[in-house]
Amino acid sequence: REKDPHQTYFHQAASGLLEGLAPFLRNQPRYADPSLFARLLEPERVIIFRVPWVDDQGRVQVNRGFRVQMNGSLGPYKGGLRFHPSVNLDVLRFLALEQTIKNALTDLPLGSGKGGADFDPHGRSDGEIMRFCQAFMAELFDHIGSDVDVPAGDIGVGAREIGYLFGMYRKLNRSHDSGAITGKSPVFGGSLLRTEATGYGLVYFLQYMLQEQQESLEGRRIAVSGAGNVARYAAEKALAEGATVITLSDSRGALHAPNGLTQEHLETLDRIQEEGGRLHQLPEHHDGLTYESGIKPWRFPCDIALPCATQNELDEQDARVLVENGCRWVAEGANMPTTTEAIAHLVSHGVGYGPGKAANAGGVAVSGLEMSQNSLRHPWSREEVDRRLHDIMSRIHHKCLEYGGQGKRPDYVQGASVAGFVRVAEAMLRQGVV
Ligand code: NDP
Repeated sequence: REKDPHQTYFHQAASGLLEGLAPFLRNQPRYADPSLFARLLEPERVIIFRVPWVDDQGRVQVNRGFRVQMNGSLGPYKGGLRFHPSVNLDVLRFLALEQTIKNALTDLPLGSGKGGADFDPHGRSDGEIMRFCQAFMAELFDHIGSDVDVPAGDIGVGAREIGYLFGMYRKLNRSHDSGAITGKSPVFGGSLLRTEATGYGLVYFLQYMLQEQQESLEGRRIAVSGAGNVARYAAEKALAEGATVITLSDSRGALHAPNGLTQEHLETLDRIQEEGGRLHQLPEHHDGLTYESGIKPWRFPCDIALPCATQNELDEQDARVLVENGCRWVAEGANMPTTTEAIAHLVSHGVGYGPGKAANAGGVAVSGLEMSQNSLRHPWSREEVDRRLHDIMSRIHHKCLEYGGQGKRPDYVQGASVAGFVRVAEAMLRQGVV
């Protein structure tokens, strides 16, 4: 805190991790070493660069680009790129720390990183997005590679942006090092099911949480926030598993579907978004849906809440409303979407809580599988990737129980923190002070 007093998101993430580790560390002198934590919390390297590009009016725009190479002890740095005006070093350090524990939990050979730019893609033309991605990669390309650092998507960076980023990388690198970026289209080396993986994996993890208490998704009302990649596919999988998804949202407001969303609704939303439209336009195409500006989805009574938009989107007041309305489960698709106070309120009221570092690890897991397929030069079928995703989410859940399952209800924060930490700490200790 003394070094970086203004990095409040990073402090929140680090405090959450240390609290999850505290009971374990009391009996583990090997790991309770301040110098180990000093290294774990400090990125190995941070690259900050200028991204100058020309907009459609011929004006020069300048954004700030970042790559945080957090921890390479388990493998190449791995983590997404975020394009959003709120991106700064604080946000990326918190995301990179979450990524360290998450990637370790997958059991794959993945180090951790995170990056992005304070660029707002909303309202930008396709040409502007392409020029921005090219300018961003013109600087980043020197720092990445399939054995070095492997970026992927995050908020504001989807398949289109990854395509433009990879195209520029390939040109500058003079080689088709396809494992240097994940989230690619399956047309040129992407994995089937990568797009769906975070949302699907979230629902698989939730199902394991429910099964542990002899419950199921069937007939449950689910409030989902966000209307992007994670929210879209979490909603799709939850529907397929017999749940009723009653909300989606974006930064402007929330969509309410009292009788539940259907696959048809989601496909209409895809078409709207492909044409540059937004969530609030969905009710224009289907009866029975309403969109209200300035509200969050948590006000609608539900059994399960899946925050899938952004950090701190579910605060203590939202947690109170959820509990009062009978919500019994919260599993995080987004990174750190629930504030510290909200988590405390939920857990103290018996709500089963699945933290993002475990529950949303399906995305990076399938990115790891994409890297494997790129190395093999052989794509796996959708069924094969889904089977492996299921398997990884099951193992992550199992590890959470191993380290956090002693109580009547498993403590998933403790379980995920300890299981991820032990693997990365062990690698760091064995590699010496580097
Ligand atoms: P997208 O850009 O596809 O979608 C983000 C969604 O969240 C949009 O609907 C956006 O609305 C909404 N949103 C963004 N900022 C805010 C805000 N301040 N308040 C309310 N809503 C907001 O991103 P993803 O779906 O990929 O990512 C969502 C979350 O999931 C992030 O926390 C990300 O780090 C995490 N995550 C993503 C993974 C992935 O594989 N993509 C993997 C693991 C975690 P609007 O369009 O109005 O901005």
